[in-house]
Amino acid sequence: MSHSDAFKKIQQDLADREKGYRAKALKMFPHVCGSCAREFEGKNLKELTVHHKDHNHDNNPPDGSNWELLCVYCHDNEHEKHKMKGYGGPVDDSFKSEGFSAFDGLDSFFPVAGKDENKS
Ligand SMILES: [Zn+2]
Ligand SMILES: [Zn+2]
Repeated sequence: MSHSDAFKKIQQDLADREKGYRAKALKMFPHVCGSCAREFEGKNLKELTVHHKDHNHDNNPPDGSNWELLCVYCHDNEHEKHKMKGYGGPVDDSFKSEGFSAFDGLDSFFPVAGKDENKS
């Protein structure tokens, strides 16, 4: 296996795992953003993402105690806050920040035909 193949496999594993805990969290918790209390259903559900309270994506206890459902906006904010901690910098307009691709639900901003992994 070449280096890049191994890398691709790791990426794929990560993506699979992320889908796994998202599905679990969505079954476990009401579909409401834990921060702004927006409710989600149907297509909008893609904007609801799973946040790890301790910011450790490897910490996925089966009881969901490390998960929090946040909409993509609040999720972004949460991570900005975390990044800013200890730096004394202002929390600025983080909505525009990039580097969001790790979050499931980014493609919710665009209509995706025939893709509905949230069906239960
Ligand atoms: Zn929110
Ligand atoms: Zn998060």
